[in-house]
Amino acid sequence: MLLYNTKTRKKEEFIPLEEGKLKLYACGPTVYNYFHIGNARAFLFFDVVRRYFEYLGYEVSYVQNITDIDDKIIEQAIAENTDFKTIADKYSEAFLEDTDALGIKRPHFQPRATEVMPQIIALIHDLQQKGFAYEVEGDVYFDTAALPEYGSLSGKQIEDQKAGARVAENIQKKHPADFTLWKKSKPGEPVWDSPWGEGRPGWHTECVVMSQHHLGQSFDIHGGGIDLVFPHHENENAQALALSGKPLARYWMHNGFLNMEGEKMSKSLDNFITARDILKQYDAEAIRFFFLSKHYRSPIDFNRELIIESDKAVDNFYKALAGIGMDSLDENPVSSPEILAHEESFQDSMNDDFNTAKAIATLFELANITRSANNELPLRQDAAKMLLKLGRTLGFFKDPEKRLTEEIPDLSKALVEMMLNYRNDARERKDWALADKIRNDLLALGIEIKDSPEGSTWNMRK
Ligand SMILES: [Zn+2]
Repeated sequence: MLLYNTKTRKKEEFIPLEEGKLKLYACGPTVYNYFHIGNARAFLFFDVVRRYFEYLGYEVSYVQNITDIDDKIIEQAIAENTDFKTIADKYSEAFLEDTDALGIKRPHFQPRATEVMPQIIALIHDLQQKGFAYEVEGDVYFDTAALPEYGSLSGKQIEDQKAGARVAENIQKKHPADFTLWKKSKPGEPVWDSPWGEGRPGWHTECVVMSQHHLGQSFDIHGGGIDLVFPHHENENAQALALSGKPLARYWMHNGFLNMEGEKMSKSLDNFITARDILKQYDAEAIRFFFLSKHYRSPIDFNRELIIESDKAVDNFYKALAGIGMDSLDENPVSSPEILAHEESFQDSMNDDFNTAKAIATLFELANITRSANNELPLRQDAAKMLLKLGRTLGFFKDPEKRLTEEIPDLSKALVEMMLNYRNDARERKDWALADKIRNDLLALGIEIKDSPEGSTWNMRK
């Protein structure tokens, strides 16, 4: 499997630290508001990474943090006239509801920063002992000049920044690139006791502690949006290197932005749509399809027409399954060489740095076989089974039973009955060609006709 590693800027062969196991960390939300669909892109993508490794038979440990203490949370608490914990709890809950609604499987571990405060303080203390951190009046900074590898993940030159950052330079810091590990609290802010007095940790340290707590000193893949490469991931990695000499992760994967009319969707630009709102308008699997039909590293423009088209595409997958009848699928494993070849090409696409767009093309092919191979039941069955299996690997088909048994509108029912009458007339005239054409055309729409001595019946799948 080839993965694009941000650290080396090339595709590399994936070799797990421990055979058959994947240790994966992706940065989660800072819970001060509802997350927007630009954030959803990252959550959805790493859900697919996790699902695909599980499909391959890996024992996956997937950790995604919840940042529940941060300046933004404190600001929001002031705006909503409450305390930081109420805000963090409210939006953590909303985060879980919305990711569930998006069909994202819950990560194996979802630690919160405030739960690991003693470990955070211990880590900062350790950095100070080893000469990588210094305290200035209750604030503690990471000493970037003490770490020769600083900048190695993002490729940034510290000297470059020096000039640019001079204006905003914090006079306490020894170097503009030095970042906060511990922040002295202002009056009225939440505090934790520490060797440097009352304060709270910096974001970059929280992620190091939460990832290492569950995955060990060094793990396989660290992921997040491309905007996190610098400074967040650089600073996470710097702390790991300083502590153990080992990088935090071996592979660093980053997804591209979701753009709104050419600009990155972000809270600060106020051009965002929350996932919660978009889910009121479109089906979760349509949103998933919309993102997965592009490569994860490419930027995507938000486009309502494309989401509507995505919805139709997903609907076609379901209709293909309806055509064969989900509950008629037997238990036997897929044996058709033609269908197994499709599974291979799906894997080839996914193994090429998660080319989900190409993998989806394989789903289309399988759906077509399911619909067209009318008279070869074993092939249809195999195609349907494979479509389900691979579709689920990408996170589709959450509940096909439910979707397929949803009531179809009365007008559609009347039209199907009408077609059935025409077909009966044709059969009486022994016009088998027309009768078959009607049956096949209806099947393509997911409507199955059953002929019996008592007459013909139809259903959406049953
Ligand atoms: Zn992080």
